Amino acid sequence: MSSASSGNFYDVLGVPKGASKEDIKSAYRKLALQYHPDRNKDPQAEERFKQISEAYAVLSDDDKRKQYDTYGREGVYQRYGSEEDIFRGTDFSDVFRGTGFGGFDDILNQMFGGGRRNPTHGNDITVRIPLRLEEVVNDVTKEMEIPRSESCPTCGGSGAAPGTSVKTCNQCGGSGQVQKVQSAGFARFIRVETCSRCGGRGSIIESPCRDCRGRGLIRRTRKISIKIPAGVEDGHVFRMKGEGEAGENGLPSGDLYVAVEIPEHPVFKRDGADVYVGAQVNAVEAMLGTELRVPTLYGDVKLEVPAGTQPGQTFKVKGKGLPRLSRFGKGDEYVKMSVYVPKSLSGKQKDALRGMLKDGNIQ
Ligand SMILES: [Zn+2]
Ligand SMILES: [Zn+2]
Repeated sequence: MSSASSGNFYDVLGVPKGASKEDIKSAYRKLALQYHPDRNKDPQAEERFKQISEAYAVLSDDDKRKQYDTYGREGVYQRYGSEEDIFRGTDFSDVFRGTGFGGFDDILNQMFGGGRRNPTHGNDITVRIPLRLEEVVNDVTKEMEIPRSESCPTCGGSGAAPGTSVKTCNQCGGSGQVQKVQSAGFARFIRVETCSRCGGRGSIIESPCRDCRGRGLIRRTRKISIKIPAGVEDGHVFRMKGEGEAGENGLPSGDLYVAVEIPEHPVFKRDGADVYVGAQVNAVEAMLGTELRVPTLYGDVKLEVPAGTQPGQTFKVKGKGLPRLSRFGKGDEYVKMSVYVPKSLSGKQKDALRGMLKDGNIQ
């Protein structure tokens, strides 16, 4: 067990002891986004991230939480195995869905020194894809260059040179493991070790494939196109099954996670499918009414500003927001009017305004 954890798991997440599962999840989510090692470069962040993730791994599971409440941290490890076991038994992907952080496996491998003990597929890959708000108005197809491991086409992934075969390792009989018996006094221990002859693969390649040097995998940069639906939001993550790293020894490929990033727009502020912009008229225009051209994501439109418009008043331009992800229509654009007071007036203009004052009854 590492020295990562100190302090009470509830305090680590900043929740009361009776907190609901939802509260625990949202507290963890908030902290995790703050301390995620991809986002926070402070050297302390990774340690802190590990702490909060450990607290979440335990408190998000009813049984482990009960064990923790009764017997404390040590009690949890006595019953459920190592820290790594507990981390790997927790579904973090659920928490990180839609945040831009897809492959939690990478982080776990970083924390625990890499190398899953029992890999079931190749590693996942996470990429970010930056989009401008204007692009999101329509469905968009983006091409990305993804460097990844792929099965070697020369040997078909076996690692053996074409025309030769892969032999079963005769030291371990293909299991990749050997048992060693050790004696200490009366006691005999059986230790299982990785086979030294085949390195745990269970097979021996006598003439390795030249292209992949017997690994069965090659590095390749692959062009992948991804279709992104109109109206997608910043932080949305798409999962492309099987487009990650190829697995070793013929295991299936991992997944590719594509995280959408839409930076803030200098003109348009977004709220879901709706869009907000600012516009200006002078006080006289506000009083008398005018016509303005206002920008939308679909080009400029005319806006009738009625007489008697007040500072801060908002006008709706129907259907000029973003397409809804549900595909039912579009949001609207809201134009917030600011009214400025002219600073220099001609004598004639002043006279006209004085005349207005004299008239009285201004409301
Ligand atoms: Zn090969
Ligand atoms: Zn072997």
